[in-house]
Amino acid sequence: MKTEIESVNPEQTKKIAKNLAQEIISHPCFSKAFIVGLKGDLGGGKTTFVQGFASGLGIKDKITSPTFVLLKRFKIKSKKFKNFYHIDCYRMEGIKDFKELGLKEIISKPENIIAVEWVEKAEKLLPKGFLKIEFQFLGKKRRRLKFLCR
Ligand code: ADP
Ligand code: MG
Repeated sequence: MKTEIESVNPEQTKKIAKNLAQEIISHPCFSKAFIVGLKGDLGGGKTTFVQGFASGLGIKDKITSPTFVLLKRFKIKSKKFKNFYHIDCYRMEGIKDFKELGLKEIISKPENIIAVEWVEKAEKLLPKGFLKIEFQFLGKKRRRLKFLCR
């Protein structure tokens, strides 16, 4: 995968995310949960990305911003992966919240896939080697998605 992709509309962002999700579930060889961390200003496209990503995991539920609940779990119907966790750290107050969510346990299981919005707030608490995607505004509908390994 290229390390930078330009998206010109929300549908394209969803398609990029969907393709990535399908790639991940077709290579289930991880020893821990697969983590995608999303960084970027409000309206950057993090939740839009998660909608496409969840669709690529075969999830039919509507994905909304979990800003007020911090974490939502969805079942995945695949052999290896069982759960998709959508986490939004916007209101996260620190390590205490992180512990209350039971994230350590969620991260330890290779059957879980996790997407974390506002990942910069939780970055120090995540294991090394997760996929980070940074969203930059280029225009009204244009966004740059930058892929990094953290
Ligand atoms: P965030 O979760 O980062 O705050 P959202 O995904 O909730 O962002 O919102 C992104 C907004 O920007 C949506 O209203 C979406 O329709 C719009 N948008 C316009 N162009 C794009 C694009 N290329 N990719 C993603 N979202 C886009
Ligand atoms: Mg969001």
